Amino acid sequence: MPVKIVTVPCLSDNYAYLMHAPLSGLTALIDAPEAAPIENALKEQGWNLDFILITHHHADHIDAVDTLRAKYGASVIGAQADAHRLPALDLQVADGMAFSLGQVGVQVLDVSGHTNGHVAYYMPSAKALFSADSLMALGCGRLFEGTPAQMHDSLSRLAALPKDTMVYSGHEYTEANGRFAITVDPDNNDLQDRIAAVAQARRDDEPTVPSRLSEELATNPFLRAGSPAIQAQLDMIGLPADQVFAEIRRRKDNF
Ligand code: ZN
Ligand code: FE
Repeated sequence: MPVKIVTVPCLSDNYAYLMHAPLSGLTALIDAPEAAPIENALKEQGWNLDFILITHHHADHIDAVDTLRAKYGASVIGAQADAHRLPALDLQVADGMAFSLGQVGVQVLDVSGHTNGHVAYYMPSAKALFSADSLMALGCGRLFEGTPAQMHDSLSRLAALPKDTMVYSGHEYTEANGRFAITVDPDNNDLQDRIAAVAQARRDDEPTVPSRLSEELATNPFLRAGSPAIQAQLDMIGLPADQVFAEIRRRKDNF
């Protein structure tokens, strides 16, 4: 039986995710922006909460950790590098580590850039990547702590995952991301189509996450710094991809 993943909208534009493994009956939460919607989703599904996986230290990803831990007795997992600024951790993880939640294997990837110590959780058997504010739908997180080169490296490693991986990112920013993306990649038909689909989803009040990695590779400018069309648009033909990435990020910051 495949795992079940439930998207939980929190605060104004955050997403938390519940991953339930039917064989073991275990449930993991990825990020804890706000307790009430997560409690309601657990109740609706009839699940206990066994694990909380933290991606990074920002308040809109950790504020509800202690409340939920106290209520459900969940074990909390997060980056060793960030242990000093995360809620108390029962398991400290680092890049390249793997652990399992029941029968579901989880691989840890350091994806620093948005913050230093930001991790992503990849569950190969579920074809699921929980990327929070690293790789986002049609975008990537703002560089609060890391350098463009660091984020470019982080995203390049995520881009190398199997193309049918579903990307569960941390916010509903896709429509705004699309408005920027089209300015650096105006002739990309896949991007034009995706922008239209995203607009329709938002009119229907549907989330635009998760997204398929193949779709991100075709349309997300932050994964496309090597694209000749984008390089031509930026007047940066043949320049190294990390330099082109830095320019795309700079333009997005000023957009
Ligand atoms: Zn953040
Ligand atoms: Fe965030």
